[in-house]
Amino acid sequence: MLVDTHCHLDQIDPNDLKTSLSADCVYLSMGTDKNNWQQLLRLNEKYSNIRIALGIHPWFVSDHSVDDLHFLYSLLSQIKVHAIGEIGLDFGLNHKASRDLQLEVFEAQLKLAHELALPISVHVYKAHNEVIALLKRYDVQGVIHSLGSSVNIAQQYVDLGFKFGVNGILLRENARRYHALVEHFDIRHIVSETDAPNIALPGRSKGHLKDIVVIIERIASLKKLTVAEAQRCLFNNANSVFKFIEECEV
Ligand SMILES: [Zn+2]
Repeated sequence: MLVDTHCHLDQIDPNDLKTSLSADCVYLSMGTDKNNWQQLLRLNEKYSNIRIALGIHPWFVSDHSVDDLHFLYSLLSQIKVHAIGEIGLDFGLNHKASRDLQLEVFEAQLKLAHELALPISVHVYKAHNEVIALLKRYDVQGVIHSLGSSVNIAQQYVDLGFKFGVNGILLRENARRYHALVEHFDIRHIVSETDAPNIALPGRSKGHLKDIVVIIERIASLKKLTVAEAQRCLFNNANSVFKFIEECEV
């Protein structure tokens, strides 16, 4: 069984989605803002191998009020979701202005994750110190998605029990930090993801769900494992965080 721990299925054309979903893969599709939560709930009902996360992405915090956080809480406590995500901090130039609000909304969602015992899927850009400080204060588990930090920073996430998500960036020749993380850490700290349709493989214009196959092949080759071994480890790693299947026999 393959697993894509971070994708945005509501951003894929429904006809394309139908043909690109594989029966051999479990997908965890991310929430980003209150406008896509209902759509994710519908996808979750329609396809047995789609799992969902709900949350407020740091890019969209300004569109949300405290009432929306209450609504999120009520959805999370009533419906079977597998994570809170995509949440986090992004202090890049385009999103720096909402810094304080991002901190507030991220912390509020960490509290929800702790209270509801749900894992989180984290987006972090130019904000590792702040994310690490907050994660130390809340007893939560999860994945740092698309991590491209130094080994030293990644080690701090790993020490907190977090895994990191590896996607198509790994196939870029110049993505040295991403290669270094996969080479340095034991595979048990890694999960596979496409972030489709956002992250494209080299030479392509957008990310595709089927990219998960070559992403796992590349992880296998960097870790000197067979593809089957890597697949099994990556599934078990993701399942240990997100509990896709209670008793895992793959
Ligand atoms: Zn994403």
